[in-house]
Amino acid sequence: MKERTLLMIPGPIEFDTAVLAEMGAQTTSHVAASFIEAFGQALERMRQVWQSTDGQPFVLAGSGTLAMDTAGANLIEPGDKALVINTGYFSDRFAAILERYGAQVTHVRAPIGGRPSLEEVEQALKQDHFKLMTVTQVDTSTAVRTDVQSLAALARQSDTLIVVDGVCSVAGEELRMSEWGVDVALTASQKAIGVPPGLALLVASPKAMQAFLARKTPVANYYADWANWLPIMQAYEARKPGYFGTPAVNLVWALNVSLGQILNEGLDARFKRHQAVGRACRAGITALGLDQVPLLPEFAANTLSAPRFPKGITGTDLLPRILKAGVTLAGGLHPAIRAEYFRIGHMGAATLGDVLATIGAIETALTQCGYQFESGTGVAAAMKTYHE
Ligand SMILES: *Cc1c(COP(=O)(O)O)cnc(C)c1O
Repeated sequence: MKERTLLMIPGPIEFDTAVLAEMGAQTTSHVAASFIEAFGQALERMRQVWQSTDGQPFVLAGSGTLAMDTAGANLIEPGDKALVINTGYFSDRFAAILERYGAQVTHVRAPIGGRPSLEEVEQALKQDHFKLMTVTQVDTSTAVRTDVQSLAALARQSDTLIVVDGVCSVAGEELRMSEWGVDVALTASQKAIGVPPGLALLVASPKAMQAFLARKTPVANYYADWANWLPIMQAYEARKPGYFGTPAVNLVWALNVSLGQILNEGLDARFKRHQAVGRACRAGITALGLDQVPLLPEFAANTLSAPRFPKGITGTDLLPRILKAGVTLAGGLHPAIRAEYFRIGHMGAATLGDVLATIGAIETALTQCGYQFESGTGVAAAMKTYHE
């Protein structure tokens, strides 16, 4: 029997073998000619994947939270007003980060599984002037996807910077940074980008960089200060050596390989695959009679799903049995409903086969828990929907 289970959580995800091979390769100097070329290429490829014509990419050793922290540290000065479009746990985290740097934060909240309407956001933007607003493109605690394109249009109308937490969406959900007018889009390596944990990735628009340059107070975070990193990123892209802090050399090599694979697949094809895989997973869950956290189907993310446990069955009953059936899934994350649901990640390289294996493992576990349903209906629905 296989020892390794299929890893279907919302990050870290299953990684490609060519990407993993870079992690085990002999570590080069961070100023070796070959590494400078790989880092420079990775920065250029980030701009392509983010669909930004003129943004400034940053690659820092750290997790997605560091990417969020970096945006807050560099764009917020004490007393600045910020608007948080709140769809769950990670929106709360962004608010906490902005407040740490002295922002006065206003929230536009939605019920759990919902998202604020465009009218509510427009109203909030009219009531005050905000320096920036944050949007979580996919909140990993609710599997709710926001309409970043429309929200960016509202932000532009009111001359507000829009910062997108794309940790659970960049390279999985559609994001057109320049065309939509997004100012910062950030993510972490271990999600749809497909690289082991350890890199904080961010692209900042010229408008965001101008806001940074117009600061009157120093950035209160030494490591995250763009003034320290901008010359380094510019140097690598110009194929010159630079040093501020040692880059995560093997991770950057792996990043360049993964970004190359993403661009080879083609962004539109990749977004379509995520949509098809997401639809298939949701259809399988629905066919089994399980509810999902997103309140409306059009709110549902394509990078992860959040099924609710059926009545009388808990996570302690179900998740270990799913694991025994060969698939690792994640428990709930949103504090208000943590014990009521679980999460399936299907981003990055995830295929229909992975979803079928996952729904099959869920069916096996449900049967063992005594849940009444017709065996195979979830798998069949997922397969049928994928091919529609
Ligand atoms: C995972 C995640 C984060 C946090 O990233 P870490 O790498 O765990 O720090 C932030 N926002 C969203 C939407 C996420 O999915």
